[in-house]
Amino acid sequence: MTRKILLTMLMLSVAAWFVSLPDAAADEAASAHIAQVDADTFDWAGQDNSYWRSVLTPLQFSVCREAGTERPWTGVHNANKKPGQFLCSSCGLVLFQSADKFDSGTGWPSFTQPASQTAVARHVDASLGMVRTEVVCGRCNAHLGHVFDDGPAPTGKRYCINSVCLLHKPAQ
Ligand SMILES: [Zn+2]
Repeated sequence: MTRKILLTMLMLSVAAWFVSLPDAAADEAASAHIAQVDADTFDWAGQDNSYWRSVLTPLQFSVCREAGTERPWTGVHNANKKPGQFLCSSCGLVLFQSADKFDSGTGWPSFTQPASQTAVARHVDASLGMVRTEVVCGRCNAHLGHVFDDGPAPTGKRYCINSVCLLHKPAQ
């Protein structure tokens, strides 16, 4: 009986490892350039598109540098409910806390507020015949998504963020 329980626990932990692998592996592959520099002193805002093209994946570049939008329900972090923090996939700045993430049903990671006052900046975006508020990284100016006024309490805000612009750092 004990052996059967142990075997079940082992199988469950192996299964959990496989389930957690895709987003962690994807994050590792997509963030190698951040580990190569001193992220706190590097001139992130001063880099041009040739730099970003050389360090980002094609999807990261089109979304984060050309203000594109990933297809909904495709991002590895859309359903990521693990405790921790979400960092900018371009520069590693802490952008959002996992505790502020909620299920908006839109297919994109959604948050009620940024991690700090300086984590993100907001710009008016009048493209596509709509007036929206664009959200960018406060350190490297990466396009992240948009913020809307239809979010849940306590802020009433919905930060609708492309998963490809985020890395997840699990709580220790
Ligand atoms: Zn950034």
